[in-house]
Amino acid sequence: MDIIKKVLWQNTIRNQLRRGHIVIIFIMSLCIFIPTIFNEYQQTINHQKEEMTNYLDAQTYFVESWLMERSEDIHTITNLTFVKDYQYEQTQAFFQEYKKQTVFTDLVFVNKEGIVQFDTVNENQQNGIGIDVKNRTYFQIAKKTKQQYITDVLISKVTKEPIIAFASPILDEQQQFNGVVFGTVNFKTVDLLLNESRVGFQGHAYIVNQDGTLLTELGPNKKEATAIIPNILSQNYNIEERILTIAQANQAQSPINFYKDAKGEWVLAKSKPINQGKWYFISEVNLLEAYTPLIKRFGLLAICILFGTFLTIKVMLMITKKIEEPIQQLLKGVDKVEQGYYDYQINEKQLVPYAKEFQELCTSFNEMSAKVKEDTILLRELSVTCQLTKLYNRRYLIEQGELVFQDCKSKKHHCSCIAIDIDFFKNVNDTYGHLVGDEVLKHVAKIIKESVRIKDITTRYGGEEFVILSPATTLDSAVKIAERIRKNVEECPFTLGEQFIPMTVSVGIAEFANDKDISTFYDLIDKADQALYIAKESGRNMLRAYDGINNFVIR
Ligand code: GH3
Ligand code: MG
Ligand code: MG
Repeated sequence: MDIIKKVLWQNTIRNQLRRGHIVIIFIMSLCIFIPTIFNEYQQTINHQKEEMTNYLDAQTYFVESWLMERSEDIHTITNLTFVKDYQYEQTQAFFQEYKKQTVFTDLVFVNKEGIVQFDTVNENQQNGIGIDVKNRTYFQIAKKTKQQYITDVLISKVTKEPIIAFASPILDEQQQFNGVVFGTVNFKTVDLLLNESRVGFQGHAYIVNQDGTLLTELGPNKKEATAIIPNILSQNYNIEERILTIAQANQAQSPINFYKDAKGEWVLAKSKPINQGKWYFISEVNLLEAYTPLIKRFGLLAICILFGTFLTIKVMLMITKKIEEPIQQLLKGVDKVEQGYYDYQINEKQLVPYAKEFQELCTSFNEMSAKVKEDTILLRELSVTCQLTKLYNRRYLIEQGELVFQDCKSKKHHCSCIAIDIDFFKNVNDTYGHLVGDEVLKHVAKIIKESVRIKDITTRYGGEEFVILSPATTLDSAVKIAERIRKNVEECPFTLGEQFIPMTVSVGIAEFANDKDISTFYDLIDKADQALYIAKESGRNMLRAYDGINNFVIR
């Protein structure tokens, strides 16, 4: 999750490009994918439609032709002279012979009253002689229309098996109805016919009659043939009402239908009425099988798009690297400046392979950082320097003095502080004015500065007071420095034209040593200040030193 966040959601240039690219590729893919899917889908449907139509036409033609041929067979028999003339013996012999050579299971001669005269059933079996068939549809239609007639599936009164009968009227010289010859065929023959004629079609086909009784197998994968035929006898193996309704409704246009078949699988189906509308020929193809090529093509297309996206992102990232890397260099520079490294310079040579704009940006950055560095140094100096005396100010003493003090403490060095105040300075201002007072201050500051060592930190503490911090300096050494300052100020009066303005200073000194009671920098300044106060109290132009445990001594 974190990686995805890092790779995609962090708002870096790289991620923005990645995201933008993915969106563009996605939109482009949709523009390609949707029309392609639509087109392929249409093509697959049309192909299936065509294949099913061809199959259905071929199969129904095959079955219908077969039925017509059998019907013609019977019709030819009825035109034979010995049949027309009721020559029973010859006719019966002919029937027996004919039966052997054809698919007919029985040939029956019926007189014009509708009574069976003879048939081809063996003597040892129960034959149909004498059975009254005048109420049978095939007899009545043959009598009425004087045309051949093919029945729906019937249960044979003799064999009790499902059969279809091909009836043809016997007409006399005057074309008057004079009886019927009908031949029966075991319906299983039609089923076998369907299976034999199955060529190049993935699905399966079956025949149902008007009331939905399944007359043939549902196909090799559906139900066992043995389960069908006995069920036809009890007339209880019906296809579902909804499938029959679709077959009945689609007689005219015969479109492709889409429903769940007897096994509950989704199928594409097409149906056609046969045997003069008595039966429906229904062919079905499994939807998954029908769409498998389509699904495969979509899969391939999706893989191509994914691969393409991946490749183009790679190429795009290679290009953007040329933008990203110099920006990273610049960002690093800005970071450094932010951290206080004002003099940070970007290596311009590293940016040579990149765009000219980045080199210009880099040069400007380097110039800017150099200027910032310069100004920062100046500002720092200004902030810690007294502009009048050019000595460090109190801020510098507090900051730097603390560091020096801690350093001495850790190294177990002594450290001394000298506090100096000009005596009766107010009088100078009052007598000569503030401007002269300023000059006198500068003069004293100069003497002080010249009287100390390089390592001493000399500051104007405020007003006409100065503080010197002397690292690694004992009280004795500090006293020597203080005395030198006092003496130099005393001996070097300020010259105003031809006039001399004599000055003196009072000095307080304190020392930090590990065995004494001063422990902080603040204590050190405070004790030096207290010593200065005592020097003032004692008459001015003199030194006083703090010698430990509230003991101030003359030096
Ligand atoms: P003391 O011997 O007790 O130190 O007497 P003092 O007159 O020196 O001390 P006081 O504190 O009474 O007066 C200090 C004077 O220093 C008052 C103030 O006007 C003057 N002063 C402080 N800073 C400056 C400055 O920058 N320029 C000038 N001209 N005068 C300053
Ligand atoms: Mg003073
Ligand atoms: Mg003062």
